[in-house]
Amino acid sequence: MDIRVQKTFEALFALEDVRQTLRDSVPDGIGLHEGDRFHEQMSRVKAIINDLEAGTGSPEVTRIAGNMEIRSREEEYINIQPIQAAGRLTPEARKALIAYGDGYSACDNCRKPFRLDKISKPPIADFHTELAAFLNMDTARVVPGARRGFQAVASSLVGPGDSVIVSGLAHYTEFLAVEEAGGIVKEVPVSAGNKITPDAVAEKIETVIIETGKLPKLVMIDHFDYQFANEHDVRGISKVAHQYDIPLLYNGAYTVGVMPVDGKKMGADFVVGSGHKSMASPAPSGVLATTDEWADVVFRTTQMTGDVTKRKFGIKEVEMLGCTLMGSTLMGMMASFPVVKERTLHWDEEVKKSNFFMERLLSIQGSRVMSEYPRKHTLSKVDTTGSFDVVAQSHKRRGFFLSDELSKRGIAGEFAGATRMWKLNTYGLSWEKMRYLADSFQEIAEKYELQIV
Ligand SMILES: *Cc1c(COP(=O)(O)O)cnc(C)c1O
Repeated sequence: MDIRVQKTFEALFALEDVRQTLRDSVPDGIGLHEGDRFHEQMSRVKAIINDLEAGTGSPEVTRIAGNMEIRSREEEYINIQPIQAAGRLTPEARKALIAYGDGYSACDNCRKPFRLDKISKPPIADFHTELAAFLNMDTARVVPGARRGFQAVASSLVGPGDSVIVSGLAHYTEFLAVEEAGGIVKEVPVSAGNKITPDAVAEKIETVIIETGKLPKLVMIDHFDYQFANEHDVRGISKVAHQYDIPLLYNGAYTVGVMPVDGKKMGADFVVGSGHKSMASPAPSGVLATTDEWADVVFRTTQMTGDVTKRKFGIKEVEMLGCTLMGSTLMGMMASFPVVKERTLHWDEEVKKSNFFMERLLSIQGSRVMSEYPRKHTLSKVDTTGSFDVVAQSHKRRGFFLSDELSKRGIAGEFAGATRMWKLNTYGLSWEKMRYLADSFQEIAEKYELQIV
């Protein structure tokens, strides 16, 4: 590990030890009764800081709790891992993690009626209002991942044997949410160019009606799918769904938090986003937003009464199991939110960078892009069977030669060993990093005598 990265972690850890001393001392004002410990720890902090500044010293702490490696991928590499790019935390989120790491830390000022989204200090209630506005929906809740958003909707709308229309490119978590509710997924076949069209959705709805004699209960569509990150006509699909009076769930796992999303304009009855995938938030986090029409269904409150104690829990929402993200996860999400809101306004630039990279990759003869092109997203699927895989065939490291070469250049996140079809995500990389990335691929190509055209 680069010594400055190493020393940064050591300094952060050493300050946590100081913090523990402060926590351990009796709160009687000044007397640092743990005095010796405090001064020893402070000397250590200073020594580490000196090393950090000078870039000197050797690694002293390499594990957390004895067995956990320090993760420095984001400090040491350009990370193009498909699902990690837009979930990288902002510095503000990392500060929130430090300050709110203790268990139920969001609950210090929880007052009647005792529900997470009603807490005003820290401003969790306001955050919920802003989230709904950000998506142009009426109501929003935070959930532990997009999947838990699908689950809440499926569990509210879908009963045993009911059909749910999903895309032929749907994420597995949509399948599981439907399965758990006892429903059955009905996939819309993928059309030319790996797109899901409104016509294909209409056709599938008709087929389901004929086969089952019943309307599907829900249509779930990914605005950008996870396989190609192709854009699908959600608005057109929502019109089709609504013609049959079927509600539409907009899956924004790859959109909410990176590009502007207008739920109402999309015709969405539900908007689901992923905090850890696209909102620079810790895992597990996400958002489920809906309209006034559906809020009472999916955010219905408990009706249960204890048979012995006669207790009731009034305003707790069943699908949320009362409260969802009660500590640093939510605080991290909230701390990133101002930046996340702002960054969605610069999506065009991210797409430009994505196309810049793709152009450079395609100039390596034999390389192809599997996703729609020009790109409309920063996640892309490429096929290097005709370029890097040709090299892999005769290389002693086989497909790993490419990961080796990338890793040497400080690039991580491509699927190790894959030289045929693989995905990358350039979200959030500066132009400087983009050029470095593109240059690196071309350098590797040149080294192995692939033609650049
Ligand atoms: C990543 C992803 C999900 C799952 O998101 P989580 O927040 O991890 O639950 C769902 N749908 C799509 C299209 C995804 O890409």
